[in-house]
Amino acid sequence: MPTTFDSIIIGAGQAGPTLAGRLTQSGRTVAFIERKLFGGTCVNTGCTPTKALVASAYVAQKARTAASYGVTVQGAVSVDMKAVKARKDQIVAKSRDGLENYLRNMKGCTAFTGHAHFESPNQVRVGDDLLTAKEIFINVGGRAVVPDFPGVDRVPWMDNVGILELETLPRHLIVVGGSYVGLEFGQIFRRFGSEVTIIEKSPRLVSREDEDVSASIRGFLEKEGIHVRTSAECIHFEPRGNDIAAGVDCTDDPTDSIGSHVLLAVGRTPNTHDLGLEKAGVALDARGFITVDDQLRTNVPGIWALGDCNGRGAFTHTAYNDFEIVAANLLDNDPRSVTDRIPVYALYTDPPLGRVGLTEEQVRKSGKPALIGTRPMTKVARAIEKGETEGFIKVLVDAQTKEILGASILGTGGDEAIHCIIDTMYARAPYTLIQRAVHIHPTVSELLPTVFGDLKPLT
Ligand SMILES: Cc1cc2nc3c(=O)[nH]c(=O)nc-3n(C[C@H](O)[C@H](O)[C@H](O)COP(=O)(O)OP(=O)(O)OC[C@H]3O[C@@H](n4cnc5c(N)ncnc54)[C@H](O)[C@@H]3O)c2cc1C
Repeated sequence: MPTTFDSIIIGAGQAGPTLAGRLTQSGRTVAFIERKLFGGTCVNTGCTPTKALVASAYVAQKARTAASYGVTVQGAVSVDMKAVKARKDQIVAKSRDGLENYLRNMKGCTAFTGHAHFESPNQVRVGDDLLTAKEIFINVGGRAVVPDFPGVDRVPWMDNVGILELETLPRHLIVVGGSYVGLEFGQIFRRFGSEVTIIEKSPRLVSREDEDVSASIRGFLEKEGIHVRTSAECIHFEPRGNDIAAGVDCTDDPTDSIGSHVLLAVGRTPNTHDLGLEKAGVALDARGFITVDDQLRTNVPGIWALGDCNGRGAFTHTAYNDFEIVAANLLDNDPRSVTDRIPVYALYTDPPLGRVGLTEEQVRKSGKPALIGTRPMTKVARAIEKGETEGFIKVLVDAQTKEILGASILGTGGDEAIHCIIDTMYARAPYTLIQRAVHIHPTVSELLPTVFGDLKPLT
């Protein structure tokens, strides 16, 4: 097997595989190194399996509320966790196997299995092989943070990897972390039939979002019977018989939450600690993310970092966009940069939250004269017809330029409808473009022209 290549890619996450495709098409020889599962977090333990479970949970909830649609479901609704997991595993395996086949059969690409670490700025070791290349691309992703809460070492806990292996339903799941990952799993397992308690140290859930968004999400989760404990300033654990006790306050609230299982969902950390980056001289920031410039070049010429490990994004679409930026600059003479990217993401609770750009709070802090438009989902025909009227639409516009500054669509179809706004923002077109467009009836997107037609000054 050759040991000298034009390029080395470390990690088969969301940027590396497609980059390998472009590099080999350009005539380069590529060594591809993956230590575990092709497809990385998104395919194996992130987006794909969680959205497969969200779909099962949605069906369970619809079955439970079937009578309100005039549909009869015989007997109590229950979930067969083995079957739910089998469905999820099948979807994941198809995606992972497809990607692995793509890479292993790619002309000009040699796939290595094993843990990669640098020996020098242009040498990477994987097992007994010492590989050399003048271009090295790091796409090693991240993993769940294990917080040092008192007692965490005395109780069994799961992260996003462990919880996806469950074949029986937890009697009472305690989710520590009321942000994107924790809320998705919390609602999934509640709909499957578990008791669920979500513990969050901030005063509100998803504290990066506006207060009205947090409050609405808390409202619909509580309606489904999820216990939410916020301002949990002193989270600690202890075994209690066969159960686990989770305390939230060390001073004046002695009430523990007692659960059968604990999910830790308090953030992610990059996989940069065991890469030998010091031997290559690659710089990290204080949180362990690889420092990159606007074209995702590290401080060492010939080494790039893409995806979650560079701290410039924490999503599959940002990792993929990193690939596009690197490929455009390196292969297409097309200058693209990370700062051209508008922040976009979704939270896949039901209903979902679609987000783009600034929050209302961020717009207020910026001091820009701005306009705001809102509309509850109770006024959206499609939502009423679907019986899914939780949430609201909120848009923010620059009062002077008329460009859209940001939007939140919390409601049925919000993860799709937000794209009308995303594209208008990329076009740097005024909001009147959407206001005057004819959208299809009945859709959630159809309400966007109405919302933009009824803007008020943000006071
Ligand atoms: C529960 C959960 C749900 C999520 N849902 C969504 C969602 O709905 N939408 C969304 O956009 N994002 C979602 N994300 C985030 C998304 O999964 C990540 O942003 C995305 O996977 C990042 O891709 P990446 O290419 O940076 O790294 P990863 O996908 O993590 O891939 C990195 C790869 O590198 C390999 N690797 C690491 N170190 C080495 C080494 N030294 N040698 C060889 N190989 C190595 C790893 O094994 C892994 O395969 C979710 C994340 C979680 C945890």
